[in-house]
Amino acid sequence: MAGLLQGKIALVTGGGSGIGRATALKLAREGAKVMIADYIPEGGERTVRMIKEAGGDASFVGADVSIAREAEAMVAETIKRYGRIDCAFNNAGIEGKVANTVDCTEEVFDRVIAINLKGVWLCMKYEIPQMLKQGGGSIVNTASIAGLVGFEGLPAYNASKGGVIQLTRTAALEFATKKIRVNCVCPGVIRTPMVERLLDTQGFSEQDLTLGEPVGRMGKPEEIAEGVLWLLSDAASFATGHPLVIDGAWVAR
Ligand code: NAD
Repeated sequence: MAGLLQGKIALVTGGGSGIGRATALKLAREGAKVMIADYIPEGGERTVRMIKEAGGDASFVGADVSIAREAEAMVAETIKRYGRIDCAFNNAGIEGKVANTVDCTEEVFDRVIAINLKGVWLCMKYEIPQMLKQGGGSIVNTASIAGLVGFEGLPAYNASKGGVIQLTRTAALEFATKKIRVNCVCPGVIRTPMVERLLDTQGFSEQDLTLGEPVGRMGKPEEIAEGVLWLLSDAASFATGHPLVIDGAWVAR
């Protein structure tokens, strides 16, 4: 049986770890050829090997999505390798250092905004012209429940994720008649290396992070990948401008 993305070309940023890796593997299993982008080559190349070992087609491109020329080169490399971009998952992000609004440094604030917010804009800035040229495409950006409700100690992160939701809505409106759909996912707390770092070094406890989850556990990266797959696929043909919350009911309280 053909997969949901049979014959499609997908680009996944932050594909070397966590949600990006799980999603890249899922898209490949559904028939997409996947370009993995990350600024840490080891992780990205490992994801490529995992896809190839499972019988899929994937390549790696090194890129820091917060730098315009690198985001542009990442898109150009994808087109050079595969000829088009049908699906883009703009997912690379960092948590920054936990500190309240007063104690957050300018350096941390600028870095988090540069990667999580400007990086998503830069990816779309270079992906959309190719999608216009080829007559359509589908984009999913990674926001967060932190873009919908506040979390103490993460001012730049929360602001960046709220911004991603608004960038998503804006691009969805701008290209609605051009067969380009733009959505985002708002994951709850998902057990990935990012969350392990928050637990190990930033003073969060396992309890802090699971207590807020009415379902009583953290999510798995694969549970976000399912939502991204749906939004990227033609099954979501009438969904655009939508922030899809996948969070074990965290924001339902
Ligand atoms: P992760 O740290 O496991 O993976 C993030 C990946 O992005 C890493 O491979 C990293 O090298 C890459 N990356 C970071 N900055 C980059 C840059 N400038 N250019 C290119 N690659 C870069 O984290 P994760 O939990 O899988 O997070 C993925 C996305 O999901 C992030 O945007 C994060 O904010 C978001 N998110 C995570 C959670 C969670 O609970 N884990 C919840 C909501 C949203």
